[in-house]
Amino acid sequence: MEPLADGGAWREAREAMVEQQLRGRGIRDGRVLQAFRDVPRHLFVPSDRLAEAYEDHPLDIGRGQTISQPFMVALMTEVLSLRGGERVLEVGTGSGYQAAILAKLCATVYTVERLAELSERAQALLGRMGLGNVRFRVGDGTLGWPEEAPFDRIIVTAGGPDVPASLKAQLAEGGRLVMPVGDRYGQDLVALERHGESFKQESHGGCVFVRLIGKEGWPE
Ligand code: SAH
Repeated sequence: MEPLADGGAWREAREAMVEQQLRGRGIRDGRVLQAFRDVPRHLFVPSDRLAEAYEDHPLDIGRGQTISQPFMVALMTEVLSLRGGERVLEVGTGSGYQAAILAKLCATVYTVERLAELSERAQALLGRMGLGNVRFRVGDGTLGWPEEAPFDRIIVTAGGPDVPASLKAQLAEGGRLVMPVGDRYGQDLVALERHGESFKQESHGGCVFVRLIGKEGWPE
């Protein structure tokens, strides 16, 4: 299959992913399911792993980092409950796949990545796809993006020991944050909702993410 095209076989693989891995496991939000139909995941995986682009597991994208399993991207997106008008902060741009999904579902995505090489690659790809509502920044995302705060939603796509205080401070009133919290080997997918200075917490089950490295994450 031609890697940059999005013809019949890719669409079929993607539809099967949506039906079996997402709808079949309880993802119900119709806008979220449509975003997964619309974003060609195979454009985000390295050329030597193309055949696995729609499979039910994470994939290496280089520099020790991964593009998350489709179900995990969908679950975190659904937990954010996006209506369309939100400004969303993402920590951990990685391949840019999660950012592309978010871009279909909200007003503006602000995405921070600590590795310049990954950020630049994602920026080029999203530009080529015509997704104009994503802003990129290279730096330590545990500190958020103070100049653009507050955010209606915050999604952290790497696992840390605790939710960074800077991110809680940059969450808007009534806003939601989702992040894997735990040790290096396993985390709990935590969702917070802000009400004044208190945060209502929910858990969405176990997960395994690469480490969140930064001032309010793990040391390098
Ligand atoms: N959302 C990505 C998956 C990211 S994997 C996707 O859809 O492909 C986690 C990413 O978080 C890695 O690229 C890693 O370099 C990045 N990361 C880790 N700690 C970070 C920090 N403090 N700030 C910004 N990015 C960070």
